[in-house]
Amino acid sequence: MQSNQPAKASAVRVEGAPVKGPQKKWRAGVLGATGIVGQRLVNLLADHPWFALTEVAASERSSGRTYAEAVQWHLEAPIPEAARALIVKGLETDLDCDFVFSALDSSVAGSAEEDFARAGYPVVSNTRNHRMDPDVPLLIPEVNAAHLDAIPLQQKNRGYDTGFIVTNPNCSTAGLVLVLKPLADAFGLEKIFVVTLQAISGAGYPGVASMDIQGNVVPFISGEEEKMEAEPQKLLGKWDGSRFVDAGLGLSAHCNRVPVVDGHLECVSIGLKKIASLDEVREALRNFEVDAELASLPSAVRHPVIVLDEENRPQPRRDVNAGNGMAAVVGRVRECPLLDVKLALLSHNLVRGAAGAALLNAELLAARGFLKDRNLANRSADEALARR
Ligand code: NAP
Repeated sequence: MQSNQPAKASAVRVEGAPVKGPQKKWRAGVLGATGIVGQRLVNLLADHPWFALTEVAASERSSGRTYAEAVQWHLEAPIPEAARALIVKGLETDLDCDFVFSALDSSVAGSAEEDFARAGYPVVSNTRNHRMDPDVPLLIPEVNAAHLDAIPLQQKNRGYDTGFIVTNPNCSTAGLVLVLKPLADAFGLEKIFVVTLQAISGAGYPGVASMDIQGNVVPFISGEEEKMEAEPQKLLGKWDGSRFVDAGLGLSAHCNRVPVVDGHLECVSIGLKKIASLDEVREALRNFEVDAELASLPSAVRHPVIVLDEENRPQPRRDVNAGNGMAAVVGRVRECPLLDVKLALLSHNLVRGAAGAALLNAELLAARGFLKDRNLANRSADEALARR
C-alpha cells in the first residue's frame, strides 16, 4: 500500500525541468522551522530523496543561533544531523535555496510569503493567509492537482517572475476532503455535516493551556469552522482557466478541541446526489487510488483512504500514523437518518494536515517542472546581462 520506496526522479521529470539525479537535490528552506509544523518538516526532509534542507528561518527570538540551540524539539526522533548546525535566519529574502516551505505564524506569514514569491522563490505554504486568494492554488494532490494550472495567471497578476505561492488546507479540512473526494466522484455530494474532535498539537506550541484542556473539551477553535466551511468548496471545485469555481456544497462544521496530542477525529454525515448502498460507499472509499504520476511521488500513498471494519475505530492513539500519517482512516460507515450516510474519520493533523501535505505539494511541483535550480537561473541572468 505504501509507496515510500526511493523515488524514480528521472521518470517524473518533465521537459525543461533541471535534470537532478539522486546525488543532486532541490535545496529547500523552511520558514517557521522552529515551530511545531516546521519541526515536522525538518524531520521529513532528512534523507528526502529529492530535497535537501539548506536553510531554516524563524523569528528574532531564534535567528543567529544554531537550529539545535534555537528549537524546542518535540519529536521522538532526534534533530536531524543536517539541521543541527544550520544557523537560523530571519525573513530576509536572500536564502540559499531553490524554494521555501512556510510554517510561519499567520501574523507574519501573509506578507513574508508574498515577499519570497516576489523575490523568485516558489512558496509552499501551510498557513491560512493566502489559501482563499482567487489566484492561489489550495492543493491536495490526490484531489485537485489540476488547480496548479492557476500558477501562470498568479505570476502574471502579481508580477512574479519564477516565484509563486501554493497552499495546503487547514488540518481538519485535509482529512475531510480526502474522504469526500471519492464520494464526490462516484455519487456527487449535496450536504455535509461535520463535528470535529481536534488534537491540541493543532494549536501549535505551547498551544492550549493545560488547565483549559486537561480532562475537558473546548467547543470553540477560533476561525476553524469558517475555514472548514470554505476550503472544501475550493478544493472540490474547479479551475476554469481564469478562476476557481466553488463546488457549491451545503456544509456545516462544529469544531471542538479535545485532550488528544495528535490526530483529528471527525464525525461526518453526508448527503449524496445519487442513491448508494453502504457497500457501494465503502467500495468507493477503498478503491480510491492515486494515478501513476502521484504514485511516483516519495510521500504519496497509493490508497490515501483506509477503511476499517471494527466498530470502535478509528482511534487517534491506534490509527494516527496509518500510511506514515498520510492516510485518512475511515470507520463506522452506516446509514444516517437525516442525510444518507455517516462515518468517522481520522487524520494526522501535523502530517496529512500540515507538514506531510506541504511536502507532497512540493513533490508534485517538482515532478511538474515548477521548481528550478535558482543558482543556475541566477547565473544565466548574470550572463545575459554581461552579454548586453
Ligand atoms: P508554532 O509552533 O507557533 O510555530 C510558529 C513559527 O513561526 C515558529 O517557527 C516561530 O519562530 C515563527 N514565528 C513567529 N513569529 C514570527 C515572526 N514575527 N517572524 C518570523 N517568524 C515568526 O505554530 P505551528 O503550529 O507550527 O503552525 C505554523 C503555521 O502552520 C501556522 O500558520 C498554523 O496556522 C499553520 N498550521 C498548523 C497546523 C497544526 O496542526 N499545528 C496545521 C496546519 C497549518 P520562533 O520559534 O522563533 O518564535
